[in-house]
Amino acid sequence: MSTTMKLPELFGSLVFNEETMKERLSSASYGAWKKCVTEGTSLDISTANEIAEAMKQWAVEKGATHYTHWFQPMTGVTAEKHDSFISPVGGGKIIMEFSGKELVRGEPDASSFPSGGLRATFEARGYTAWDPTSFAFIKEGSLCIPTVFCSYSGHALDKKTPLLRSMDEVSRQAIRILRLFGDTETKRVTAQVGPEQEYFLIDKADYAKREDLRMTGRTLFGAKPPRGQELEDHYFGAIRPRVAAYMKDLDETLWALGVLSKTKHNEVAPCQHEMAPIFSDANTACDHNQLAMEMMKKVADKHGLVCLLHEKPFAGVNGSGKHDNWSLGTDTGKNLFKPGSTPSQNAQFLLFLAAFVKGVDDYQDFLRTTVASAGNDHRLGAQEAPPAVISIFLGDELNAVVESIIKGTEFKDAGKRTLEIGVDVLPAIRQDNTDRNRTSPMAFTGNKFEFRMLGSSQSISGPNIALNTIMAEELNQFADELEKSTDFQADLQKLIKKTFTEHQRIIFNGNGYDDAWIAEAEKRGLCNLKSTADALPAYIAPKNMDLFVKHGIYTKEEIQARYEIHVENYTTVLTIEANTMVDMIKHDILPAVSGYATDLCERADSKSACGVACKYEKETAAQVAQLTDELMEACSKLESGLAAIPADAEAAMQYSHDVIVADMAAARTIADKLETLTASEYWPFPVYSDMLFYV
Ligand code: ADP
Ligand code: MG
Repeated sequence: MSTTMKLPELFGSLVFNEETMKERLSSASYGAWKKCVTEGTSLDISTANEIAEAMKQWAVEKGATHYTHWFQPMTGVTAEKHDSFISPVGGGKIIMEFSGKELVRGEPDASSFPSGGLRATFEARGYTAWDPTSFAFIKEGSLCIPTVFCSYSGHALDKKTPLLRSMDEVSRQAIRILRLFGDTETKRVTAQVGPEQEYFLIDKADYAKREDLRMTGRTLFGAKPPRGQELEDHYFGAIRPRVAAYMKDLDETLWALGVLSKTKHNEVAPCQHEMAPIFSDANTACDHNQLAMEMMKKVADKHGLVCLLHEKPFAGVNGSGKHDNWSLGTDTGKNLFKPGSTPSQNAQFLLFLAAFVKGVDDYQDFLRTTVASAGNDHRLGAQEAPPAVISIFLGDELNAVVESIIKGTEFKDAGKRTLEIGVDVLPAIRQDNTDRNRTSPMAFTGNKFEFRMLGSSQSISGPNIALNTIMAEELNQFADELEKSTDFQADLQKLIKKTFTEHQRIIFNGNGYDDAWIAEAEKRGLCNLKSTADALPAYIAPKNMDLFVKHGIYTKEEIQARYEIHVENYTTVLTIEANTMVDMIKHDILPAVSGYATDLCERADSKSACGVACKYEKETAAQVAQLTDELMEACSKLESGLAAIPADAEAAMQYSHDVIVADMAAARTIADKLETLTASEYWPFPVYSDMLFYV
């Protein structure tokens, strides 16, 4: 990365962005692209050809030799298949070519991606189609074209298509509401997202020696080190030079790719850090978060580091999550979740707030499933991330407003009178950091909601599809009702009051980590879907399926397919983890501890032959030998458990959760005890204090 470039020049230098299009396209083609993006019209082939030619020329000038349709299959990561621009012209020569057809549509023979049964093998090929709302960019010598990925029967096989559908739908429904408030200007409402990304950095040499990290992304063994995060000295602490150099390089890499990387700091656990970009539309935010995760890993490699994106790389210290900051903005520059300064703006704000509160209450189970994964099971409800129960935090001021609306009681701050929606002004709602409730899964933070349950490795697409669709549904219901009204003010007031009253149970402003809350939540009838195995069935609950089908976000088959992929993924992840454990126990730990115990015995023999005390050797050897046998047995149990995983996918998920997780925990406890007894030179891989406190 060129460090001589000034930041404004560097930013977006590898992106075929709007400014570049304006410069390099005829005004007719630029206009056609713009119309396609803002109004959803399609591009004709001559325009596509011109855009492709301009893109290729630009990319070749920047040193690109290949192009790829860059897409997001249901694996959760991105996929790419590179084709070079070369085209033979005879005489052993080539020219660089790229047509509109190649830009707009590609056909990767992508039959090995998970499809959840959406593609029969005889029509295994999927096709990719350019998403003109997301800019093309250059990565490692390839022009990357953000695309959607569908099967020939038209089913979405990716995470982008439904996201785009949900963004359109929430826009359509929000505009109906805005029209009721007399807004005639807004043409588009955009779901806006700023995802904060947590990660760990460890030394590459340590990583290389740990099979668990290489196979599963997390440590499956490791005794608690003498020091973890107790000193609370890492959070926002001074950044070590080696990490600072990494962060600088990462920033520059992301800026060149047009990612608005803004904030970087140390997180709670040792070696844990965070990057947050400035928010953008949900589609771009999702693309950019995928790129950021990829670059975090690639840049780390250059610095002799490894970036771990797993939700729980180390037991005993915090794991990593992702905060999904979400709001709705108009193309006229307004944020629909910003409390206004006039009575009418306030009424509109309260209606959008009511829709959100109702939506989260109605679909709390689905929101929970969008963050369900084997990795995230280690965090949710473990006192380091929100509990598995969904609730909304509104903050003191807004909560007082909602309560006064529900009770029709006096609103203290507003001068001893009841708050009349549409007539009265709201009191100032603070946007103060200190007022933040960090234990809430869904916190209102002044002008947006922060969904805090996401796992660090997951795509943000799923949760945002859910938020957009849920919001679209509630706005749709409200619009249906209010469009018929003959007394808008009165009916609006009634609707807001009714909604807050019926859905107040989802609002909780206290400490989400407190056990008392879990008991209280149960009394309120809120879902507590503790694990992935508990949560996933909600994916295909009839009311949830109906929601997505009604709004055209997923077909029944598409949602069923996603459910199946998640269910299978859970068992697959656990199987890999358990197999890795077995491997490490048999190949590394048992031989090492057996050797250690034998050496201790030999030393004890020599010592007693000389008449010297050898209590230490004997007792340690006895303990090690005892635990060695226990570990061998725990390992056999794990192996027989693995052999007995049922064939049926749902049964396998439940079984993995009930049996494999418990057997792994049992084996780990013994191995970790052995680690504390075994001399360092015998222990076969780096331990927590090596990995978490490297220099
Ligand atoms: P913090 O949560 O640490 O106080 P900020 O409030 O600055 O930090 O924002 C965190 C993330 O939320 C950033 O990615 C930011 O760009 C994003 N964000 C800010 N405003 C909005 C908004 N209206 N809609 C969506 N995301 C937003
Ligand atoms: Mg935050």
